[in-house]
Amino acid sequence: MSDQARDQCDLLFAGGEVIDGSGSRRQRADVAVTDDRIVAIGDLADWHAGRKIDVTGKVVAPGFIDVHTHDDYALLAKPDMDMKVSQGVTSVVVGNCGFSLAPLSFTEMQPGLALLGDEEAFRFPTVSTFIGAVDDAPPALNAVFLVGHSTLRFGALDRTDRAATADEIKVMRDRLEEGLKAGATGLSTGLFYDPAREAPTSEVIEIGKVLQDYGARYVTHMRDEAEGVMDSLEETFTIGRECHSRAIVSHHKVMGGQNGGRSIETLACIDHHCQHQPIGFDVYPYAAGSTILKADMLANSTRVLITWSQATPEAGGRDLTDIAAEMGCDIYDAAERLQPAGAIYFSMDEADVQRILSHPNAMIGSDGLPFDAHPHPRLWGTFPRVLGHYSRDLGLFSLEEAVRRMTSLSAAQFDMVDRGTLKTGYFADITVFDPATVIDTASFEKPIQAAAGIAHVFVNGREVWAHGQGTGNRPGRALRHGHAVAA
Ligand SMILES: [Zn+2]
Repeated sequence: MSDQARDQCDLLFAGGEVIDGSGSRRQRADVAVTDDRIVAIGDLADWHAGRKIDVTGKVVAPGFIDVHTHDDYALLAKPDMDMKVSQGVTSVVVGNCGFSLAPLSFTEMQPGLALLGDEEAFRFPTVSTFIGAVDDAPPALNAVFLVGHSTLRFGALDRTDRAATADEIKVMRDRLEEGLKAGATGLSTGLFYDPAREAPTSEVIEIGKVLQDYGARYVTHMRDEAEGVMDSLEETFTIGRECHSRAIVSHHKVMGGQNGGRSIETLACIDHHCQHQPIGFDVYPYAAGSTILKADMLANSTRVLITWSQATPEAGGRDLTDIAAEMGCDIYDAAERLQPAGAIYFSMDEADVQRILSHPNAMIGSDGLPFDAHPHPRLWGTFPRVLGHYSRDLGLFSLEEAVRRMTSLSAAQFDMVDRGTLKTGYFADITVFDPATVIDTASFEKPIQAAAGIAHVFVNGREVWAHGQGTGNRPGRALRHGHAVAA
């Protein structure tokens, strides 16, 4: 009887190639799951399973971790999270670039928070009430939470076009600490954006001093990713050192034609500082970025596509130069008339994108914007594009390396317990894909399309995506920093 009990499981992935996320070579193995955990990996041909899935010819991998998202509000408003689970993503990190949904201790809606979508419907005065809402109405996938510096500034300052006073810094630090106590994994900043641009380095350091007590991260959309990118890296690492915190550079890139090739310098700088302090960075696999429509981004871009416009909704998906020609004005005037609005900026050199992606410490993050009318294709395409285009078709790195950079590396950098690797005892976040056909299908012209080649996606042992369709299951969990979160 005891033998029989040992050889039983709820779910068996049979006949596939296991890529375990550690970077090790793939091996032929079956994977057994009971409840929400992996219970065995190996030759399990004689096991009894409640459900057996034949995955011959496919890869069984840990579910992918999207370390850079703006999905705070999407977790509640689009809980099926099809744009992510369709790519094999089983966990997202929310609250990036300084903009987190909580704590919203103010009533007037603020610029920049538009990145998160129509947040009017959900207002959370504290991080713990937001995380509690995710507990109460779970989405299809897991979420890790960051507290945004700009969100804190909106709540503590009467106007954000100045540095914070010592009293205001204390208010922000206390609210950050409330978030860390509630389970947030770190502080994010968006020093590039208006609500934080006037914050000096010292303001961030003073707020971030509480990070050390919680072993929490400092994650940043840097002040400058163009001409001043080297100074911005130094600022980031200074903040990390002063706060005794891991510093993570968000969506690392070098923008502007005149800066093409400078990823050689930036990666050397990252490698140098890595020897002395904990550092991480993420990247998305495209030579175009996307955020709100900003006049100062236009000069660094060869092409600008509008993703949404409140003033002129029909501008979504169109080139700014065409819109300007129709309006009979230049692109700066046209951009002004479209506001508030969002855009895609073709502003990077493909060689830099490939060089950054190829770095062994590069985590994959989508930076997708879930509520844009005509979003950047990274929202639906990031992870299959790395697997299919950059690994298989261009051969930049092995499939095992591609998977590591979206699983175990990310789990380690964000302190996610028992996830990111296929290992007995770990949570059953599992993605099954066809290595011959996996590819993004979302394009700049048609951005809302599920990827090809993702066969099955399981979160905490329950299926959320099967053969091109969401299942409607919502087994995701709010992942509190440093805790193995059980059901
Ligand atoms: Zn950003």
